[in-house]
Amino acid sequence: MNGTDYYNYFKLHPDQNGRYGKYGGAYLPPDLEKIMTEIRDAYDTISRSAKFISELRSIRKHYQGRPTPMYHAERLSQKLGPAQIYLKREDLNHTGAHKLNHCMGEGLLAVYLGKKKLIAETGAGQHGVALATAAAYFGLECDIHMGEVDIVKQAPNVARMKLLGAKVIPVSFGLKTLKEAVDSCFQAYMEDPISQLYCIGSVVGPHPFPMMVRDFQRIVGIEAREQFYDMTGDLPDIVTACVGGGSNAMGIFCGFLADPCEIHGVEPLGKGTKVGEHAATMTYGKEGVLHGFNSYLLQDETGEASPVYSIASGLDYPAIGPEHAFLRDSGRVQYVAVTDREAVEAFFMLSRVEGIIPALESCHALAHAIRLSRNSPTHSRSILVNLSGRGDKDMDYVIEQYGFGQDFQL
Ligand SMILES: *Cc1c(COP(=O)(O)O)cnc(C)c1O
Repeated sequence: MNGTDYYNYFKLHPDQNGRYGKYGGAYLPPDLEKIMTEIRDAYDTISRSAKFISELRSIRKHYQGRPTPMYHAERLSQKLGPAQIYLKREDLNHTGAHKLNHCMGEGLLAVYLGKKKLIAETGAGQHGVALATAAAYFGLECDIHMGEVDIVKQAPNVARMKLLGAKVIPVSFGLKTLKEAVDSCFQAYMEDPISQLYCIGSVVGPHPFPMMVRDFQRIVGIEAREQFYDMTGDLPDIVTACVGGGSNAMGIFCGFLADPCEIHGVEPLGKGTKVGEHAATMTYGKEGVLHGFNSYLLQDETGEASPVYSIASGLDYPAIGPEHAFLRDSGRVQYVAVTDREAVEAFFMLSRVEGIIPALESCHALAHAIRLSRNSPTHSRSILVNLSGRGDKDMDYVIEQYGFGQDFQL
């Protein structure tokens, strides 16, 4: 596969400059460059110390509830057959999604660095809630920048963040959504990089963020590989996960890069193929720079990020983590796209057949597994799906739009 050495992969990627092949890097104003170098150097030392590693282990076990289970979805598999579908249950992680994995890591790093406050942007509020949880746990202050439009739309998550003791900072310029919230948070960070740590929400942003977030999410893949082997005596034929920025996907993919498994990332095709109807970055984007890193980007002729849409607000981002761009070009990971409607069908199906209500984001990966199973009716493969989160947050919307699934052939 393009000569890439997957046995020594983590030693070699990213390189010294934060590059994954030609992707990644750190495109920053000079003020921030110095801060990022400091964080990277500190992270390199701290993350290798026995004390940090053992504290993070203890937090994962006693606070987050790790390891999360591996589950053989037998009834779903039987219904679709002959493929066998397995779920890595990140929905059972504390707060109901994988995001806490990197937020607890970033929070612990902040404590080691002597920071007082965690700051971040949030779109739908999922990252804000996870980070507010980490801040409460570590006794740190927390500012969450959020567009005014999103604050109105995501009232329950705004309430959660406030209950957890975070301050929600309304962003009132531009379109007042996620992109402006990132701009606002970068601004706040530059004003005081000493007492604050910026905790980005996915494997995106300037180096070292894509690497740190990946390293903290790697536990998902490490657990999954061992659990799968314990259960089946074998490795999965296909490993799949949904991709917004790409953190839950990188987490599980990391466990299988050196194995003879196919790996599939699943992007949101939304309502269709026109600009503004989807967020399928790999399918329709091309190389470009956004938020301090180089990757695939949905953009217009001038290089400006295009408007994006998905029914799953966690997938609604015009770029993708730089490591995914590298893994795609090297041929190790394939990227496919799933529509809103396919994701909603998977939402109803898993709820009804297995008693698990999945997040709409995770439904994209699940829908891909369902499609693979239906499209090869004679091929008994094992498919491991990263179930990145639970769907309680999506229930009201789905029911309002689609009722209880009466229009679907479940
Ligand atoms: C935020 C979110 C995602 C998308 O983020 P990635 O960084 O691409 O993993 C996926 N699933 C759930 C449940 C989320 O909350």
